[in-house]
Amino acid sequence: MAKFEISERLKKLPPYLFVEIDKAKKKARDEGRDVIDLGVGDPDIPTPNFIIEALNKAVKDPSTHRYSLDQGIPEFRNAISKWYKRRFGIDISPENEIHPLIGSKEGIAHMPLAFINPGDAVLVPDPCYPPYRSGTLFAGGEVISMPLKEENGFLPDLKAIDHHNLHKAKMIFINYPNNPTAAICDKKFLKEVVDFAKKRNIIVACDAAYSEITFDGYKAPSIFEIDGAKDVAIEFHSLSKTFNMTGWRIGFACGNPEIVGALAKVKSNIDSGIFSAIQKAGVAALDNYDKHINSILKVYTERRDVLIDGLNSIDWKVDKPKATFYVWIRVPARHTSATFAKELLDKADIVATPGNGFGESGEGYVRMVITVDKSRLVEAVKRIKERLK
Ligand SMILES: *Cc1c(COP(=O)(O)O)cnc(C)c1O
Repeated sequence: MAKFEISERLKKLPPYLFVEIDKAKKKARDEGRDVIDLGVGDPDIPTPNFIIEALNKAVKDPSTHRYSLDQGIPEFRNAISKWYKRRFGIDISPENEIHPLIGSKEGIAHMPLAFINPGDAVLVPDPCYPPYRSGTLFAGGEVISMPLKEENGFLPDLKAIDHHNLHKAKMIFINYPNNPTAAICDKKFLKEVVDFAKKRNIIVACDAAYSEITFDGYKAPSIFEIDGAKDVAIEFHSLSKTFNMTGWRIGFACGNPEIVGALAKVKSNIDSGIFSAIQKAGVAALDNYDKHINSILKVYTERRDVLIDGLNSIDWKVDKPKATFYVWIRVPARHTSATFAKELLDKADIVATPGNGFGESGEGYVRMVITVDKSRLVEAVKRIKERLK
């Protein structure tokens, strides 16, 4: 019988750390237990109707049925440019500074292929969204981890990066508002990143997937609000979280034309663009952003308050995150991420993600999501209170 060996690049991927919790979750469900899944970060609220209607209309137009070509339809790039100006006060050209993506994960994972050779390194936060690592490894690059520590507000300490490795670094991934820690950053930090990148000739890849999911009046900055950032940076945006469109696969990259252009060149050899009808729906989404966003932020704010106030009422001491739909919780002293996640599931039928699944420095934490109904969060707190003593 033929035997096929997987590629070295696949072998290099770290082991999938959520196997145990996935198995336990399935077992609990099979046993008929009422599992509250606070594991997966995927908006439970449907895509707004005006976006669905825009898709309906667009899909009936046969001109949307053909390849949309690399740069996508001009209307979508124009809508992005206008939204960016309204939201951040920044000009980005629809001609050569914007490239649509089949979800920002796609662009993030392909990004290292555009610039990284074997022997080059990428600076990656730890814990992090997994594609920063896998994209780097697929390109033959080396991952240099930047631990995100609570005492630094979960910001990487750029001065602490090992100097022996730094000369190999060609790219740095930054993600604020952050998944999984829910941390935010200020413009001072972004300026520090831009100065660091300029000095060392490093590309800054900013993942802004949660830039619009913010609370209590906080507005997340774009890296392009920093003078000179366009010399070194590319920023990844997604319609997934902002408009409850995770299944639609639509996002974009913007910034330095040479960096955006190199990513576009990789993509032109791999995919053939986003369905034009979805791009037209994306135009409707961005054009109506200001009317839509507050209603979803209101829902998340309420849920966040229910969960955090509830946990704090039983002495968990969790701060209210200013952004994202995640809550990053330190586990009790006698526990690891894995044993605590297991205890939550075994005793309270609650799924939380063990923090070490996002990288070594995530050890000691679990991540919970608020993408479930408020009543389920009330129930989760009740169960923790009653069953986890
Ligand atoms: C959800 C998420 C994304 C991207 O989602 P897409 O649906 O691929 O646009 C990117 N980065 C982080 C950190 C995320 O959590």
